[in-house]
Amino acid sequence: MKIDLHCHSYYSDGVLSPSEVVLLAKKEGCDVFALTDHDTTDGLIEAQQQADKSGLSLVHGVEISAMWSNMTVHILGLGVDINNEILQMGLKQHQEFRQLRAEKMARGLGGAGVFGALEKTQAIAKKSMITRTHFAQMLVQEGVCKDMKSVFKRFLTGKKPGGVGGKWAEYDEVISWIHAAGGKAVLAHPLRYRMTNTKVKRLLNHLSGAGLDGVEVVTGSSSSDEITLVSQWAKEFGLSASVGSDYHGWSGQRVRIGHLQDMPSANETVWRDW
Ligand code: AMP
Ligand code: MN
Ligand code: MN
Ligand code: MN
Repeated sequence: MKIDLHCHSYYSDGVLSPSEVVLLAKKEGCDVFALTDHDTTDGLIEAQQQADKSGLSLVHGVEISAMWSNMTVHILGLGVDINNEILQMGLKQHQEFRQLRAEKMARGLGGAGVFGALEKTQAIAKKSMITRTHFAQMLVQEGVCKDMKSVFKRFLTGKKPGGVGGKWAEYDEVISWIHAAGGKAVLAHPLRYRMTNTKVKRLLNHLSGAGLDGVEVVTGSSSSDEITLVSQWAKEFGLSASVGSDYHGWSGQRVRIGHLQDMPSANETVWRDW
C-alpha cells in the first residue's frame, strides 16, 4: 500500500490546486492520501470531488500550528469531520491571526525598505490565506533575496524585519479541536523544530499527556537513521506512526508525493483501523 498523509495545495502554501494534488497522488500510485493544508480545510471539498472521480481514498486532514513552550509546532489532524464547529472555530481564530500577522510582517518589511509588501504578497497568494512562504516568494520575486532559504534566515524569523512571534493556540487546545472533530492528532516532522533530541522527547511527552495519537515517523526528507530514532520514540511514548511527504510543489523541492521510505514493521500505524 502506498500512503501519503501530509501534502499542501494552494489553499495554504502549496503550488497546485486541490484537484491537481489529488490527480498527482493518483498518478504516483497512492492508495490512501491526505490533503493537510495549514490551518484550513477549505481545499478538501474540491479534493474530495476529484478523489471520487479518480477512485482515490482521500483522508480529510489539516496541519494546525500550535504553541508548545513558546515555540511553534505543527499538529496534523487526520480523518477530521470538516463540518465540526469546534474545529472550524479554532481554525477561524488562526486564520484571523494570520491576517493580523501578515499586516505586521509587512510593516516590519517596510521598515527594512521593502514597500507594498502586503499588496505584493496578496497578489502571489491564490486564496485568502497568507503564509510566510508567500512573503518569501514575494521577496525572491522582487530580487531582495536569491532563494527561499535565505529569505527565512534574513527576514522571516526571530528578530528579523519580517519576524513575528507565533500566537497560535496551545498544543492541548489544538489536540482537543482535532478530537472534537473525530480525528487523530499527529505531531508533524518531529526533527524539523531546531530542538535537541532531549527537547523533542520532552515535547512528545507533554503532547502524549494531552492525548496526542501519533507522530510522523517517515517524512519526505527522513534519513534511515532518523526513521529508526523516531520509530523508537513512537514506541516509547505509545504513539502510532504516520507517514507524509509534506509535498508543496515548489520548484526545487525534491520530495515527491507517495515516494517515501518504508515504515518500520514494529510500529502501530495511524491508519490501522481505517
Ligand atoms: P507559516 O505557517 O505561515 O509560519 O509558514 C510556515 C511555512 O513556511 C512552513 O510550513 C514551510 O512550508 C515554510 N518554511 C518554514 N521555514 C522555511 C525555510 N527555512 N525555508 C523554506 N520554507 C520554510
Ligand atoms: Mn508549508
Ligand atoms: Mn509543517
Ligand atoms: Mn506541511
